[in-house]
Amino acid sequence: MSGHNYDHGKSTSSKRQKLKELLLKSDNRICADCGAPDPKWASANIGVFICLKCSGVHRNLGTHISKVLSVTLDEWSDVQINSMIEVGGNSCANAIYEAFLPEGYAKPNSDSNYEERANFIRSKYELQEFLKPSLRIVPSKNTSTTCGSGKDSDSVSGSASVNKTSQAGMVEFIGILNVKVIKGTNLAVRDVRSSDPYVVLTLGQQRAQTAVIKSDLNPVWNEELKLSVPQNYGALKVQVFDQDVLSSNDIMGEADVNLQPMITAATAFGDPDLLADMQIGKWLQSNDNALIRDSTINIIDGKVKQEVSLKLQNVESGGIDLELEWIPLAQ
Ligand SMILES: [Zn+2]
Repeated sequence: MSGHNYDHGKSTSSKRQKLKELLLKSDNRICADCGAPDPKWASANIGVFICLKCSGVHRNLGTHISKVLSVTLDEWSDVQINSMIEVGGNSCANAIYEAFLPEGYAKPNSDSNYEERANFIRSKYELQEFLKPSLRIVPSKNTSTTCGSGKDSDSVSGSASVNKTSQAGMVEFIGILNVKVIKGTNLAVRDVRSSDPYVVLTLGQQRAQTAVIKSDLNPVWNEELKLSVPQNYGALKVQVFDQDVLSSNDIMGEADVNLQPMITAATAFGDPDLLADMQIGKWLQSNDNALIRDSTINIIDGKVKQEVSLKLQNVESGGIDLELEWIPLAQ
């Protein structure tokens, strides 16, 4: 029998059996992300078994990052089952996706709320923050070593599987943008005397926001937000809102950040780890942009950084200070 598996052919049911056997391995008896017992779901492209609650977060990442299937209810294609078997289960996958989990990092547990789960799961799979940096730069390889077949090694043997996953799922992101929202200055009054401001960042389909600071026109956030940057990135949109419990939240100005000078300069200069501290580029202040002054792009301690001071647009007053950091994912 060849072609599509619309029915339950013999080969399909024996594959299913293999999937069930994999699920019964001890490391797959707890959720790969939060440790909750008895996971009944899986991310077929990442190759992990996860609990119902974490599966909700995975689903919201989009199928280009995580393809969620029920172990018991969904139809699995042979390709999907094979990729689960190839990754080798939760401990193999975590050995790679959590290789650089900072010491003392608190992973979510079975009682964690949606937000705690979502933060972790995004960092782990979408932004790949804990992945060995060398694995992020993925030249195509034809090796197909697996972690699952007997060996319990958690180092090199699993990397090929993850490379494939990255190619299938992450190819559209070229890097991570860390945005430290430092402070606002002289923001507009939206309530009687003050405002309760927060900042929303938007890049393509992604959105991140800071905490609300009560009654403060010169709020200091010092809050770091992360966004992954797609290949065809546009401007980073910065918006400031006033939280209003009685009516809809009022906008207190906005500004666009052109990411191109930073990404272009960083790409031209190459691996920042190998460079001494220096200036590599500049986004120039002009009448067409929201910059208060020229914004330089620097290598600082092996990182690409840019300080940006913006005058908020479409509002009577206000400015926002940001610090950007660019982390390329591929070269
Ligand atoms: Zn879970």
